[in-house]
Amino acid sequence: MMLDRSLGNTMVRIWRQVQESHCYKYLNRVDMYTTLLTSLTKSGSIVHALGHEFQPPPPRRELPSARLLRKAFLLSESEHIEDYRAQIMSTFGKILKFDSTKKICKKLSGAGRGSAEWCTNVGNELSQVLTSVLTCEESREKLRPMAQGLQDRYSKAGEAPPPPPQVMYVDRGCCRVLGVSSIEQLFSEWSESGMVIRLDAFHWMCRFDAAVRTDHHPKYPLFKSALSAVLFAYNKDDMSLLVKLTRAGSSTYANLTDEQIIAKFISREDLKHFVRRVTVGAHETVTRVQNALEVLKGRAGKDGMGIALFKDDGSVDQVWANQQKHLKCLQDPPGMDMYTVTKHVTRNGISLPYYRTVRGSNSLEGFHRFLPSMIPGPRCAAVPFQVYLLAGIARWNSDRESDAVKGQKGRKHRTFQSPLIHRLNKRCELFGQVEEVNFRAPMPVGDELLGLEYLFSQSSSFNVDGHYTEAREVLQDGTTMMR
Ligand SMILES: [Zn+2]
Repeated sequence: MMLDRSLGNTMVRIWRQVQESHCYKYLNRVDMYTTLLTSLTKSGSIVHALGHEFQPPPPRRELPSARLLRKAFLLSESEHIEDYRAQIMSTFGKILKFDSTKKICKKLSGAGRGSAEWCTNVGNELSQVLTSVLTCEESREKLRPMAQGLQDRYSKAGEAPPPPPQVMYVDRGCCRVLGVSSIEQLFSEWSESGMVIRLDAFHWMCRFDAAVRTDHHPKYPLFKSALSAVLFAYNKDDMSLLVKLTRAGSSTYANLTDEQIIAKFISREDLKHFVRRVTVGAHETVTRVQNALEVLKGRAGKDGMGIALFKDDGSVDQVWANQQKHLKCLQDPPGMDMYTVTKHVTRNGISLPYYRTVRGSNSLEGFHRFLPSMIPGPRCAAVPFQVYLLAGIARWNSDRESDAVKGQKGRKHRTFQSPLIHRLNKRCELFGQVEEVNFRAPMPVGDELLGLEYLFSQSSSFNVDGHYTEAREVLQDGTTMMR
């Protein structure tokens, strides 16, 4: 029950559930026993006449404490830590996303408390996580070993190393103000091989919030959708197909124009999944943003009381002037397909592809939202923190890989024990089959460090094997690991 931590489940909560079932089962048994005895000892029965004395039911056995269960769980997870590391370090991608979060760091308690400020993550187009490191600051100097490790992972990956990534989405550091952007400097080998840096559109749009009076203003959602609409245009063929199948739903739609069908009968969700979008080019975006801002500066941007959305025209002009330089960083790289088809859906007798975009760092944001629940409870000492983190990421990656397998069949077995599957796949060749078709054997691990290993290595000499031997001793001893 602790393995899947998507609900932020803690051992105390699980212990309570087990305790409840345990008590219920016990009382049921007592009920059954006493029912039986009551029927035997009815007045007039032989047993009653003999006056036999019956034994009371044995007392309920106590469960091991939540603390002990947590210790047993962590010890068993720590036995697999090398497998989890290998799985994470065997993850690659063509379209990477680079972002940091602070949320998880404040959970670190004990000796490590306050030493971590940032958790920096790199994800791929399947929303898997290639690396996750904790640092005391989000500087280029502190992130350099992580970036180097990742680039080495690609170049040293066995006999047929994967090609370098093609794009990296970031929330800052995209522009080449002084020749080379800061992210390009971090990932210089990849940049030299042609990887381009792109700014995530959502982060760019959020920068306009500085000019907005309050995000509770009734025109704020309109403003956000207007910004999104000026950056992207819908694919005409996809839109025609969606209109065609909507028309097929009712003969009363025959008199309506395509525009009316789109406005009245096509939901935002359908647009999101069935119609691909393309960027319109930096030049055209300038005009489109300017037009949208002019409209919103006027009556269209005022609420019922006449209060304007923007603080004043000067502040929105200022933000726009600052953000214009990023328009090139927002464009899709030329010739790159920004969508994958995850399945086909049939509606009104017409089949249409269901798309998922690989653009932007939204998928990594999803991981960031999930991250805090990987570490159960409000606080956690360093050793269990690291075990929970690596186990959580390995499972997250495995789930994303299963989701992405063509035909949505996923993995045959829901298990994350890579060496076991790897071994069985080899042995099952005896029967002319493999145990798990959708399985990629992990690569041998390099010198990369993950999670807290990375943080510790920046302030002391660090050895991975020694660290985990010591960690297991700490877990076994159990005195210093609890919060
Ligand atoms: Zn930029």
